[in-house]
Amino acid sequence: KNELDASIMDGKSKAAGAVAGVTRVKNPILLARGIMELSEHVMMTGRGAEKFATEIGVELVDPHYFYTDARWEGLQKAIARERVEMDHTSMTPAPVYKDGKFGTVGCVALDKNGNIAAGTSTGGMTNKRFGRIGDAPIIGAGTYADNLVCGVSATGWGEFFIRNVVAYDIAAQIQYKGSSMADAARETIHKKVAEMGGDGGVIAIDTQGNIVMEFNTEGMYRASIDIQGKKTIAIYKNP
Ligand code: ASP
Repeated sequence: KNELDASIMDGKSKAAGAVAGVTRVKNPILLARGIMELSEHVMMTGRGAEKFATEIGVELVDPHYFYTDARWEGLQKAIARERVEMDHTSMTPAPVYKDGKFGTVGCVALDKNGNIAAGTSTGGMTNKRFGRIGDAPIIGAGTYADNLVCGVSATGWGEFFIRNVVAYDIAAQIQYKGSSMADAARETIHKKVAEMGGDGGVIAIDTQGNIVMEFNTEGMYRASIDIQGKKTIAIYKNP
């Protein structure tokens, strides 16, 4: 079963909503927004989150809705690889839950009134354990927005993004150290996360509309439109 995580943050009010480990919510980001706007909570998980979804009219679907052949095949490969690694290394399970690609969807936006928002939605990592929650629904790790600083959404090996509080770490460098957003993102992604053994990237936008899309993997699916209307779409480095 696919277990889905998502979060959203409003940089004006610093309100946030997050949902973790749901299997039946068609658009988890809509439920994250519902939690932000219609409940007194920030994060809800599993069955309680799904019950709240029905109360506020967020659509539920059969878990099979999220099945795709490509992801199923990716899971089978990851399981097979994990078995090989276990066979070669005593009884300790291989600490590798990823298949080298990330499929999270993130979004950061600045509007003409200076409001920044960030959102992140994911099925998590291939072959994750039942009940494992990644960085995507954790405010400050996978998602962060502050009208005075920037908005950040992350994708990558979530455990490392949680431990480095990635999205907030970038904002904190800008706010407390006066770093540019580009320098802050480089520091967090290439030094902190990479040196600890993690991989992934972020998209970020600041109060001036500067856009940063920084990653330490081979590629990151990404697109942007800037204040002048210039569009970019890229996967690998140096588009
Ligand atoms: N960050 C996500 C997680 O760890 C995975 C991803 O970005 O693909 O759940």
